[in-house]
Amino acid sequence: MVREIDHEPFETVGEQYVVRELVWNGIDGRSYDLVSLADDTVLAEESFDEYPTDAQIAKVLRHHGIDVELGVCAFCGDELLPATAHRHHNGWVGDCWDKRLRTNE
Ligand SMILES: [Zn+2]
Repeated sequence: MVREIDHEPFETVGEQYVVRELVWNGIDGRSYDLVSLADDTVLAEESFDEYPTDAQIAKVLRHHGIDVELGVCAFCGDELLPATAHRHHNGWVGDCWDKRLRTNE
């Protein structure tokens, strides 16, 4: 492994988590781990090949007994973690909103 990149941490159920991107030497592939910042523990048994979706993150957290409430994106209907989403009227929007903004630039 060459490098670790911590993405934006987020808080859910009072704990801080972060997606850690691992950059490997000699191969193009990267892997992504879900890490609990409280004790720097990797939560997922298997790394993700791509940045995990909120639904994938929630699944891992639930597997570890953490009761995560998921919201639903008002635009695309994807499940999302309120911790990483944006408030939109009475609901939530996820990353698709950022992409939409970028596309309209
Ligand atoms: Zn969306």
